[in-house]
Amino acid sequence: MLKIGITGGIGSGKSIVCRCFQLLGVPVYDSDTRAKWVMNHDSELRDQLIAAFGPETFDAQQNLNRAYLSQKVFHNAPELAKLNGLVHPQVRKDFYSWVAQQQTPYLLKEAALMFESNAYTQVDHVLTVSAPLSLRLSRTLQRDPHRTAAEVEAIMGKQLSEEERVSRAQFVLYNDEAQLVLPQVVQLHQKFLQLASKAF
Ligand code: ATP
Repeated sequence: MLKIGITGGIGSGKSIVCRCFQLLGVPVYDSDTRAKWVMNHDSELRDQLIAAFGPETFDAQQNLNRAYLSQKVFHNAPELAKLNGLVHPQVRKDFYSWVAQQQTPYLLKEAALMFESNAYTQVDHVLTVSAPLSLRLSRTLQRDPHRTAAEVEAIMGKQLSEEERVSRAQFVLYNDEAQLVLPQVVQLHQKFLQLASKAF
């Protein structure tokens, strides 16, 4: 089964592009959503998180306290590394068991931090969704009105630059105001089907 990673910085349009692929019948593994699910449902991981970050990591209803955890790790690289060291292996396992259930010629794994987190090693090729920084900022602020520009810029500052992400990917979809998303998705879909048929 051919595995394509899909990445892009905050507000680049990954989710929209993934929805287009899903309409074509391509299964998409959303790493962020699955990581949240795993953190909430894997009891061994839950115990490890509580041991590492304290009982406040989960609220009274046993739901992950994301705000608490984000505040703990956002400005603290060693704590972030500790969190990733606990969560990533479990999400990797979850990804491979999901892959085993899929029956299409290829699938997508969506991850914002594909290169930063080494998730690219779990896929055969990476597709980057690219858009100019100013457009990513304005789209994100429109989508998330509770966020300030400074907050979004701080998140961008922790991600790879647009240039680096594009240079490390095998495929790029330009989600700027000059190029349409759908024709690019259809073209990539054909390319991935071709690659999948050659691979096996
Ligand atoms: P995040 O990393 O924060 O999850 P993302 O890369 O998944 O972001 P999206 O949520 O897909 O980005 O897009 C950000 C916002 O920009 C959304 O509100 C989306 O509807 C809008 N958007 C994305 N692409 C376009 C486009 N081509 N035209 C108009 N709006 C767009």
